[in-house]
Amino acid sequence: MKGKSFFVDLTLCTACRGCQVACKQWKNLPAEKTRNVGSHQNPQDLSSKTLRLVHFKEGLSKEGKPMWHFFPEQCRHCLEPPCKYICNLYAPGAVVQDAETGAVVMTEKTILQTAVRRVNLESWQLCPYNVPRMDEETGRWFKCDMCIDRVKVGMLPACVQSCPTGTMNFGDRDEMLALAKKRLAEVQKSHPDAYLADPEAVRVIYLCETKPENYHKSLLASAQQRESLLASAEQEKAHQVISRSKVSRRDILTGRMGSRTEKA
Ligand code: SF4
Ligand code: SF4
Repeated sequence: MKGKSFFVDLTLCTACRGCQVACKQWKNLPAEKTRNVGSHQNPQDLSSKTLRLVHFKEGLSKEGKPMWHFFPEQCRHCLEPPCKYICNLYAPGAVVQDAETGAVVMTEKTILQTAVRRVNLESWQLCPYNVPRMDEETGRWFKCDMCIDRVKVGMLPACVQSCPTGTMNFGDRDEMLALAKKRLAEVQKSHPDAYLADPEAVRVIYLCETKPENYHKSLLASAQQRESLLASAEQEKAHQVISRSKVSRRDILTGRMGSRTEKA
């Protein structure tokens, strides 16, 4: 599985928000009403209309000087995406993964909750990075789709096209991984603790110069988070098999489902 990847060099980001605006422009998404909460963070969170958001983490350096760490957040296009596994249990085909690029795309079938079917899922139950957001009016889930329409015709994703500092890079996965490792070695000369965030698990590879706690909390996903998401999906799958086939939980646990079960 090769496909495409982003390399996001956080050491170069100036939080100009060009990428945030470009994403809205390309997707034709409306602005949202926001309020000043005493920081530069605006808006406060991702939403079904803000699929990309620059986070400002404000703090003090070791010398006591004001310090910012910027983190432009988006879907990571996981190599094995829990959101796809979980949504498709409820609605087959709700989340698809493009074979050529690896883009993870949420479709209109992600309207999992309807008047007759209540599926009360929250973002963190679908995604270890807490990325997707449900539109309150339609019940449909939204997130970055890698600008798949642009990428398929040889264009760069809108966020990458708009970035003036070299923070955002996009290309073949091997090429992006090589660039990430090269930049990491350079940055470690001045910041020995620099690292790449989850590079083996995702297609959006962040280069970070300082500890995860200095960035917004969704920078990293722990292996434990991934495991617990997949474990709850397995439980749901077992529950669905029981409901559809009328076999008992004991039958499933003892492997005695025979021909009474449907293929899950
Ligand atoms: S980051 Fe979240 S929404 Fe994006 S592919 Fe991974 S699990 Fe899905
Ligand atoms: S456009 Fe580039 S520099 Fe500006 S906020 Fe986005 S990633 Fe950072």
